[in-house]
Amino acid sequence: MAAKQQRLDRYLSQRLSINMRDVKPMLAKGRIIVDNCVADSSDQLVNTFSHVVVDGNEVQRNTPRYIMLNKPAGVISATSDPEHPTAIGLLEEQEVNDLHIVGRLDRNSTGLLLITNDSRWSQALMEPDAKVNKVYVVTLENPIDQAYVTAFAKGIHFPFEDIVTRPATLEILGERLARVTLTEGRYHQIKRMFGHFRNRVTGLHRASIGHIVLDENLLSGAWRNLYEHELCPADY
Ligand code: URA
Repeated sequence: MAAKQQRLDRYLSQRLSINMRDVKPMLAKGRIIVDNCVADSSDQLVNTFSHVVVDGNEVQRNTPRYIMLNKPAGVISATSDPEHPTAIGLLEEQEVNDLHIVGRLDRNSTGLLLITNDSRWSQALMEPDAKVNKVYVVTLENPIDQAYVTAFAKGIHFPFEDIVTRPATLEILGERLARVTLTEGRYHQIKRMFGHFRNRVTGLHRASIGHIVLDENLLSGAWRNLYEHELCPADY
């Protein structure tokens, strides 16, 4: 998903507080550089991540970042927290101000956490209508059986919001182990779905979001930038 686009003359008039019609003469004199090329058209499109230079002064340089982190238990899905270590803190980078988390995990949940500065991309991924699959491996306190599969597929009533969860797939992997695929992300959703059976979740690990699968080479707490093919929204 591309970042939001805007005409160059409109963008510069907003950023530099100048008149839109002042942009044309600046272009004619070659004073505006966009992504390392001399700009020559007022209607050229720029976005949040275009590199824009006017008269040798940088107006904007935002590099899009797309990160996967293997979140350890005990870490908060947040940018800052007074008490606990945070996911953004694990990146140990200086330039973290503009980063945000795409689809939080509870403090004790582990696994795939996506982090970006591209809000259009994160919105596309988390947009409820996009129905992107999120896959979790869940360990339970008590044994599970076919009744869970049926209930998850049918949807479970959450009295607080008075909603029924979207059909979810539950595969039984062991006596107390399941793989659950959701297409939505409600507050404590998995815990509450198993809570319906009064069965406590003792381990919750996110394995994938859409076609982005947690890299098995990433140790707990480690991260890497996403590869180009992982960014493509086409088959989310
Ligand atoms: N569902 C939960 O209950 N917790 C999570 O962290 C993710 C999904």
